[in-house]
Parts: sequence; C-alpha cells; structure tokens
Amino acid sequence: MATINGGCLCGAVSYTVEGEPIFVGHCACQNCQRSTGASHSTVAAYPEPQVTIRGTTTSYQGVGDSGQPTTHEFCPTCGSRLFTRASVMPNVVMIAVGTMEPDAPLEPSMLIYGKRRRAWDHVPEGVAVFEGMPAPPQ
Ligand SMILES: [Zn+2]
Ligand SMILES: [Zn+2]
Repeated sequence: MATINGGCLCGAVSYTVEGEPIFVGHCACQNCQRSTGASHSTVAAYPEPQVTIRGTTTSYQGVGDSGQPTTHEFCPTCGSRLFTRASVMPNVVMIAVGTMEPDAPLEPSMLIYGKRRRAWDHVPEGVAVFEGMPAPPQ
C-alpha cells in the first residue's frame, strides 16, 4: 500500500496519504487556473479516511465551473494550495500533486474542464480529455 507524504512551501502544513487514489488528473477549470497561477492544476483524489492532515489551513469557497461550491484550502503562511473539496464529491479530498514528495508514484490519466484549457497547454499522449467534469466515480 502506497504511503505518500507532502506539504506546503513553508512546512507549516503537511499530510500523509495511504493507499490508492480514486483518480489522478489535471484540471483546467478557471478556479484552478486562478488559484494556482498555472494553466491547470494536477490533483490526486482520495477518500477522506485515507488522508491525515497536520497543521491548520485557511480556505476559500467559490463556485466552480460545475456550478457547485468548491473549497480550496491553503497554507495561511506561504499560500500553497494543498487541498480542494467539491460538494459534488462528498468525503473526497483532492490533493495538489505538486505538493507531494517528488517520487510519489502517481500519474495523471485525464484532464477535466478541457473547455477551459489554454491553446498552448498541450495534453500528453494517453491523457483523456473531458470538456467538463466526467461522471463522479462510484
Ligand atoms: Zn506553508
Ligand atoms: Zn479545477
């Protein structure tokens, strides 16, 4: 069973995840672009019980491209975006893959909100592109 550690830029918030993610993917939605400053985020989604968070985050709740509330959680000191929760996926924590240890054995298989993808943000071969949010995993 994979155990992956990660944390924010300054080290005030860290986490450990156990086991397999539900999915690993890129998200090109407008909220991800604005909150990361990059052309897309890359997240791994885990059931809440597989995630242990140490430290305190601050959060911002907005309305996603889905039309449903999404909450981004940040380190209050350094601003790293660590976790995202979407009301369409209850009890699931999406973790920013860039905050995980570099050799975390995860590979994105899809890109969601492809309709927001910037023209120069090329999708690697083997990554499935969805225009919006695919049906939630069962
Ligand atoms: Zn920090
Ligand atoms: Zn997004």
